Amino acid sequence: MTIASSTNDSQRLQLSPLTLPTRLLLGPGPSNAHPAVLQAMNTPPVGHLDPAFLALMDEIQSLLRYVWQTENPLTIAVSGTGTAAMEATIANAVEPGDGVLIGVAGYFGNRLVDMAGRYGATVQTLYKPWGQVFSLDELRSAMVTHRPRILALVHAETSTGARQPLEGVGDLCREFDCLLLVDSVTSLGGVPLFLDKWGIDLAYSCSQKGLGCSPGASPFTMGPRALEKLQNRKTKVANWYLDMNLLGKYWGSDRVYHHTAPINLYYALREALRLLAEEGIEYSWQRHQKNAEYLWENLENLGLSLHVEREYRLPTLTTVRIPDGVDGKAIARKLLIEYNIEVGGGLGELAGKVWRIGLMGYNSRPESVDQLVEALQQVLPG
Ligand SMILES: *Cc1c(COP(=O)(O)O)cnc(C)c1O
Repeated sequence: MTIASSTNDSQRLQLSPLTLPTRLLLGPGPSNAHPAVLQAMNTPPVGHLDPAFLALMDEIQSLLRYVWQTENPLTIAVSGTGTAAMEATIANAVEPGDGVLIGVAGYFGNRLVDMAGRYGATVQTLYKPWGQVFSLDELRSAMVTHRPRILALVHAETSTGARQPLEGVGDLCREFDCLLLVDSVTSLGGVPLFLDKWGIDLAYSCSQKGLGCSPGASPFTMGPRALEKLQNRKTKVANWYLDMNLLGKYWGSDRVYHHTAPINLYYALREALRLLAEEGIEYSWQRHQKNAEYLWENLENLGLSLHVEREYRLPTLTTVRIPDGVDGKAIARKLLIEYNIEVGGGLGELAGKVWRIGLMGYNSRPESVDQLVEALQQVLPG
């Protein structure tokens, strides 16, 4: 019997080559990758221990330090999405029994609560309605009450569109001998963020939001105080894949094999970061702010109202209240199917109440706003 005749041809799937619609991704992420980033991703892979690839990893580290405004030696990309970098941060920072105070004012605050609990933290929470932020005084009194080892805050709460101010929080944490952990998934690249100046000890992000890249290689950084805590652990980091003791040796001078990096995604990330450095990080922040203001003005001209108070609005993500009597899901579906524009719906407390519109990375351009506003004029009831 030949091999060919032993297979059942009638079971073979016959599919046409991949075709997908081209969409303008103006939801909470992913955003469209920059064309040059997609092109970089098409470069044929080299081996992951090839000297050329190791040099590229060094470049990613330097570029990440620049966009984050930090000098932390342990600044790398985690192979995985933002959630993997989030888990890396929690897994390395938290030891069983540590008090971890988490500011919860949206979906991702809740995810931090769940994750920290799984790594044995004694979770302490501070709540606010979705769309609001914590004041320095509120954070101080919670620190006095709880005396945590770690304070975790979400800089850009993608579920609400609110920007948590961070100035002064690092000093507060030092006063209480506590580490400051920040989710910067929807802020990195698009919202002013000074890691070292603001005393942030641990941070993570993703590639597919403000960096204008495809998902899968996620920024992670750890400062000297966090590193010291890691080195003094009594228990092993409970996650092998994300253990910075091991990953640090792969990214550091030892280059010890740990896992096979997603080579092409690292190509993409390098190109996205290179473009950002070429633009200049502060110019990118200004661009995001300017285009967001243009969006807000246009939405208000359409008679729509925005969920977050202006002072705390994120330039990367805007929550728009769905007018009474309007079917938010039907409008979003029309935008997608008829206009090829993706916007997000609400989560949790805001489910059914808002649309979420992202202007992130490459998509933060006036043309994105114009395209969306023209479509909204057509689909919104007159
Ligand atoms: C998107 C997001 C994450 C998770 O990132 P993924 O890339 O989806 O895994 C975490 N935190 C915030 C604030 C986010 O917006």
